[in-house]
Amino acid sequence: MSRIAFIGLGIMGGPMAGHLVKAGHEVTGYDVAPAGVDKLVAAGGTGAASIAEAVGEAEIVITMLPQDEHVESVIFGAGDGEADGGVLRYAKPGVLLIDFSTIKPETSARVAEAGRAHGLRVLDAPVSGGEKGAVDGVLSIMVGGAAEDFEAAKPIFEIVGKTFELVGGSGAGQYVKAANQLIVGGTYALVAEAIVLMEAAGVDAKAGIDVIAGGLAASRILDIKRDSMLARQFQPGFRIDLHHKDMGIATAAARSAEVSLPMTGMVAQLIAAARAKGYGSLDHSALLKIVEDLSGR
Ligand code: NAD
Repeated sequence: MSRIAFIGLGIMGGPMAGHLVKAGHEVTGYDVAPAGVDKLVAAGGTGAASIAEAVGEAEIVITMLPQDEHVESVIFGAGDGEADGGVLRYAKPGVLLIDFSTIKPETSARVAEAGRAHGLRVLDAPVSGGEKGAVDGVLSIMVGGAAEDFEAAKPIFEIVGKTFELVGGSGAGQYVKAANQLIVGGTYALVAEAIVLMEAAGVDAKAGIDVIAGGLAASRILDIKRDSMLARQFQPGFRIDLHHKDMGIATAAARSAEVSLPMTGMVAQLIAAARAKGYGSLDHSALLKIVEDLSGR
């Protein structure tokens, strides 16, 4: 069993850290919001009041943070003061750093390079599966980094995930996550359009979705979200704000790979509209509200 520092105990990190505790690891958690730390302590972990306290004795450091700037501040430090240092300052050489956050591939590559310069072994390991996947411990994990570090991280991936693949060097996991997010965003947009069409036509949309879910259009999103979408329940889950960030990563990735992804562009604009309408803190299934707005409903 390992001593693990877990930084970022939100919707995803909270349950993931809980699984690691349950599996017998010594988990010390840190989050700027005390609620996540309190939950981890209640689940049998230890709370830390700073990054230094969390990572000082750790063999494995895990981060699960919202966006690039949070990862950069936690890894590189927020300033020059003694209390402002990041993981790079406090982690012991040889530590395995697993970043589960969804961020830009270039940021992951930069974190990995800086980590290596400090003697750390670094993997980018963004996940898919949503809050339910985190709670059930069945996430899909897209990993970028060195093969021997991937092998070393497998016992952790087996606890929080079900499917995990090494997809290339540092940053590669983030490209696969970008590909994942454009499929997820596009699926939500089309499920929303299907619901709006059926309701406007006066058919039984619930029965319609049920029969659709039994055919070729079946999907995990239909399985998990059809009832909450039909009931207009949009508490997150996965916030529109975060999906907006991910579509920015996907469109930038498309540009750097010099490919044209027209559907991705359209989905990115729908999500931008949802954010502009003030739905940023709702679940991404709230794309339904945008399709309703567009349809005058
Ligand atoms: P969240 O906002 O619920 O959790 C992030 C946590 O990080 C919060 O508790 C926040 O207080 C903490 N935090 C922020 N800055 C910090 C700092 N400097 N130091 C310590 N803690 C800090 O977000 P989430 O939904 O758990 O998402 C985390 C990551 O996982 C994101 O990159 C997201 O895109 C990705 N993701 C989310 C889902 C989902 O369904 N929610 C699914 C797959 C991937």
